[in-house]
Formats: sequence, C-alpha cells, structure tokens
Amino acid sequence: MTGGSGIAGVERFESPGKGRGLRVTRAFKLGELLFCSQAYSYVLSVKERGSYCECCLTRKEHLARCGKCKKAFYCNVKCQKSDWAMHKLECSAITAFGENWCPSEMSRLVARILAKKVGQAQCTSEVLFVTHYMEDVDNEKREMNEADVAGLHRYCSKNLDLPDHKDLLTLFSQVACNGFTIEDDELSHMGTAVYPDVALINHSCLPSVIVTYNGTSAEIRAVKDMKPGDEVLISYIDLLYPTDDRNNRLRESYYFTCDCKECKSKSKDKVKIKVRKQSDPIEPDVINNMVRYARKTIREFRQDNTPLLEMCEQSLDEMGAVFDDSNVYMLHMMYQAMGVCLYMQDADGAIRYGEKILKPYCQLYPPYSLNVSSMYLKLGRLYMALEMYSKGVSALKKALAIMEVAHGKDHLYVKELRKEMTQK
Ligand SMILES: [Zn+2]
Ligand SMILES: [Zn+2]
Ligand SMILES: [Zn+2]
Repeated sequence: MTGGSGIAGVERFESPGKGRGLRVTRAFKLGELLFCSQAYSYVLSVKERGSYCECCLTRKEHLARCGKCKKAFYCNVKCQKSDWAMHKLECSAITAFGENWCPSEMSRLVARILAKKVGQAQCTSEVLFVTHYMEDVDNEKREMNEADVAGLHRYCSKNLDLPDHKDLLTLFSQVACNGFTIEDDELSHMGTAVYPDVALINHSCLPSVIVTYNGTSAEIRAVKDMKPGDEVLISYIDLLYPTDDRNNRLRESYYFTCDCKECKSKSKDKVKIKVRKQSDPIEPDVINNMVRYARKTIREFRQDNTPLLEMCEQSLDEMGAVFDDSNVYMLHMMYQAMGVCLYMQDADGAIRYGEKILKPYCQLYPPYSLNVSSMYLKLGRLYMALEMYSKGVSALKKALAIMEVAHGKDHLYVKELRKEMTQK
C-alpha cells in the first residue's frame, strides 16, 4: 500500500469497472478495525480554532495560543513546534490581513500539500491521488477553482514557491476529488485532510466499512461481517437520498455513476419519496413538480449555508401539501431547521424537529450510520440539558451502540459519551 509497511489483511486489486480498489484477504467481523491511515496533510477549520489543537486535532479545553497571530491554538509547545512548518504559511498573513484573512479551506490545504512536497522527489499527484476524468469540470467549478488559486496566492503562500497556474488548477481538482472532510461525533465539520490509503477505497451505496477520525488519523472499520475477497467499500455521499439524486451527486463531485445493488433495484426509492395519504390519490405530475421544487430548494440552501428558520418552514409547508413527513426532502428541511434552532439555542424547537427526523432516519439509513448516531447524540444531549434524564440516557445509549462499532470501543468520543451518560 502507499507510503510504507503494508496493511495486514487488506490488499490493492483491480476492481471490475472501477479501477483501483481495496479488498480484504481475511475475514473481518462487524466493528473490527481494518486499518488506520495517517493524514498526509490536513487543516483545521477556521471556525474550530480554539476548540481543537491545530497540530494533533485533539478536542481539549485550555489550549495555548500562538503568541504571534493569537489565532492558532495548541496542546503545548511540542504541538506548536511540530506544526510550525505548516502554520508559518499563514501566521504572518493572519496578522497582516486581520479580519480580512479569508482563504478557502481548500486553499489552505493545498498550501500545506505543496509545502510538504518540497524536498520530496516524486510528483505529489502521482503518489497521493487516484485519477478521475477531469474533462467535464463545469463552469461553476472552474470559477471556484480559480478563486481558490487566487486565495492561495494571497493568503497562504508565505515561504512557498507556487507551481504555474495550470498545475495548480489540476491540483485543486484532485484535492476536491480525493480530500476527506473531517467531522466530529455530531457530524459537524472540523477540517479537511488527504489520506492516500483511504482514497483507494471505492464507493457503494451499500458500504462495507465506515471511516471515522481519531486525531489526525482516519480509521476504517467493518460495518458488516466481511469474508476474504470482499471489496472494501465506503459511501462518498449522504445515503439518505433517492437513487437519481445520489448519482447526480456522484457525477457532479466524483465523475462516475454507481451500479451497486441498491442503485439497480432502487428498492428504497419509493419510501424515500413517500407522499401524503389522501382520499384522492395525488397526480404523478404534482409529485414530480414537487420533487423538482425540493431539489431546487436544497441546491439554493447549499449555496448560502445559513438558511433562516422561516425559509425552512415555508418550504416544509409547501412540500407538506404533497409529501409525507418521512419523505427525505421533508427530512432534509427539518434537519436544516433543527440546525438553525440549535444555532439559536432553541432547545425545544430542535427537539421537536429531531424527534420527527429520528424514526425515518433509522429506516432509511443503513444499520450502522453516523447520520443516525449523530442524531441520537444531538437529541440525547438536548434531553440531558433539559434534565429529561431517562429520555436522554436512552437516546445516548442508541448513539453509543452505533459508535462502538463505527468508532471502536476505545475512541475518545465513545469514552466521553459513557461519562456523559453517568453524569446527571
Ligand atoms: Zn501564529
Ligand atoms: Zn496537540
Ligand atoms: Zn449505489
């Protein structure tokens, strides 16, 4: 495998129709760790500064900050020193630009990849990235890449010799395809990283493994029993949505179409687009129009990422005339609405939405899903905060059962959770 010693029980192979892939050479049981992968390069999100160490990505209180820019936080001097080669790309620019320092996370990550490359003989892209077809990069994406390149030059290129424009554009496309979003136990975004070994894993809507993050490492665990020869498969996308939506997403971001069993049978599509029960059945045209409306609204919300509660409620009203409450587009809007409530510290509102989301989530997602565990976790923590302890503990228990498989029994998040359940 890339970067060294090889991983026992896992090997590279040519996956039919998919190119390079990974498969297991021995049996793995549910919850068993297949392998860990150290990030080649990573970056902590700006909004998480102060909550995590920039160097080891440990969640901790009372971190010490960089004396120069006062914006980077560390466990101790040791972490600060080992991060300096990366932080020095930004430190003086952070001070110089002040409030106006605003590179994209992608620009920051690419700067780090380039800084690491210095002195290494091999071409970064060959070592790091699985190649995808780049020809259908659309205008919107091209503009984003151009903006990222400009941001890299402006905000993150201190002490860095940048390659020419065309090579940079290629690198940005590759990182967009092969990068991983690091998320915490509640699936809140905390950073972006490149894991060359994990990038070899192909996609399926019926994944055999889950990726979780532990400090700067990614850990890959089986979410079903695997036998020798089984391909290691993760999901690249949110599996809540119907087959057409999933494949649109895959084509947009990864330039391929999935042909897994679920994509062929579309067995869950009907429940996913469930319509309201009414005495007169709803016309197919009306349903199709509403699906179109829902997709459009979701796309618009994705562009400006803090919707107002009224906007969520308005689209819920509109769609609710046709769609059942368990319809995935309704769930999407309720999830957004719950996020807004949490942001506004409206615990009752958040609980109201969370309770509606949970049951359909359990039916529509695979048995071991981080989307489900994080929803139990959020709800459980809200109940506990409102002193509804028995409801709280029972929700947290459900989260724990999934996390013990996905994160492993010794993960910091699992330990923290066990502690929370005993403290009232
Ligand atoms: Zn600094
Ligand atoms: Zn640290
Ligand atoms: Zn599929």
